[in-house]
Amino acid sequence: MIDMHVHTRRCRHARGSVQDVLAVARQRGLRYLGFAEHLPLPALLLDQDPRAASYAMPESELADYVAEVSAVAEDGQEPGPRVLLGVEADLHPGNEAHVRRLVSSAPFDFVLGSVHFLDGWAFDDPELLDGYDRWDADRLWTRYFEDLAAAAASGIADAIAHPDLPKKFGCSPRTDPRELYEAFAEAVADAGVAVEVSTAGLRKPCAEIYPAPDLLAALNRRGVPVTIGSDAHAPEEVGYAYEAAVAALTDAGYREAVVIVGREIKEVPL
Ligand SMILES: [Zn+2]
Ligand SMILES: [Zn+2]
Repeated sequence: MIDMHVHTRRCRHARGSVQDVLAVARQRGLRYLGFAEHLPLPALLLDQDPRAASYAMPESELADYVAEVSAVAEDGQEPGPRVLLGVEADLHPGNEAHVRRLVSSAPFDFVLGSVHFLDGWAFDDPELLDGYDRWDADRLWTRYFEDLAAAAASGIADAIAHPDLPKKFGCSPRTDPRELYEAFAEAVADAGVAVEVSTAGLRKPCAEIYPAPDLLAALNRRGVPVTIGSDAHAPEEVGYAYEAAVAALTDAGYREAVVIVGREIKEVPL
């Protein structure tokens, strides 16, 4: 079992410490555990948006986070998972230089790239659902996948997280999204970037894995490697619904997943 996307209370909207998460991972027999805390947001966004302080760890704690996870990773206590030091970076347009600076400040094993903001609106924040009334669904989906393709092409991330996040609260495009899926699959294949299969969607109103089966199949046709994450925001969510992720991958034609160690993709059998 692998879980390449877990959070701790350091991001201000999750529960549990690194040790709490690790204890559950040990108990469940995980082979790889990737901490992917939300990378600090840029000062400009924090100044503009009073809610943003609860979206990510503050920059003043980044070094502590690196030290804490690195200590656990080097500890190598048996039996236990291989612990990897990662971050989940917000890769909306204009944020690349900020992310590059922080990502180069520590020896991360992997960087997940995410799009959570559209023109400054955190569309996955359950407190900001009124934003969906201001966006045409087709325009939202098109713009999201454009930004996601740009995130992949930036070369900053090793894998793109929860690739069809706009469905979280039930927003779906009026027109067939398969064209968007194909364009995105082509962009990530060209960029040589992996994509995350996330079981977090199963815990949300959409009640579906990210990505949808058609998108996962499009990724498989282009040979895009996939990793698996729970996006756990509480210790008990570590490894959440792993069998469902494996089933989705198998249905899409995958025989292996990948983990990312020292910024290198490494295949692991399902
Ligand atoms: Zn989060
Ligand atoms: Zn995310």
